[in-house]
Amino acid sequence: MPDGVLLTKSRDQVIESDLGERIQQLDGQPPSHIVFPAIHKTRQDVARVFARTVGTDPENDGPHFLTEVMRNNARPRFLAADAGMTGGNFAVAETGTFMVCTNEGNADIGASVPPLHIASIGIEKLVPRVEDLGVFLRLLSRSAEGTPLTQYSSHFTGPRKGGELHIVLVDNGRSRRLGMPDFWHSLKCIRCGACMNTCPVYRRSGGLAYGAIYSGPIGRHP
Ligand code: SF4
Repeated sequence: MPDGVLLTKSRDQVIESDLGERIQQLDGQPPSHIVFPAIHKTRQDVARVFARTVGTDPENDGPHFLTEVMRNNARPRFLAADAGMTGGNFAVAETGTFMVCTNEGNADIGASVPPLHIASIGIEKLVPRVEDLGVFLRLLSRSAEGTPLTQYSSHFTGPRKGGELHIVLVDNGRSRRLGMPDFWHSLKCIRCGACMNTCPVYRRSGGLAYGAIYSGPIGRHP
């Protein structure tokens, strides 16, 4: 589950709220990395995607310009959304809190702007106590991007005032996997992407060659 998507009932639209995911969505491609979805694209590539899909100048590939283009394009859609959908990087059994880590604050848009927030969380993301969170948050951010923490570490413990929150705990084969002596270790994965960054196959082929959302050593092999 990405950081967040926004759903519009009236227009039957699903809009990615993460910039990298949105670039990939506009380009009709899946993400090529679980942390940096558009890492294979240069800013010139992004300028061409925006020119084709949004109508901007293909020669203008300035990072600030491209960011503003997407801000202006996406914000009205976010404001009109009927629901926001997020994943959850961790959930705490002790309190019922779940957390979403982002660098753009986009999970907070999905959770705070539309009247309905749906969180889809794999059951392996549960940790027992709040005091266990610190270790995992530092582990995730350091392994994913070499920073002490992500820019936003958002905690959700209930619906916002006047809003609605649905938490979907996803098994989808995880319980079965837990009983497999050789494979249960994959449930320890916190989706940091570090194994992709060091994998010689991924580094040669890129993530799109795998034909799956999860590529690299933890994902499906080509
Ligand atoms: S398997 Fe890969 S993505 Fe998962 S925690 Fe390990 S290094 Fe990170």
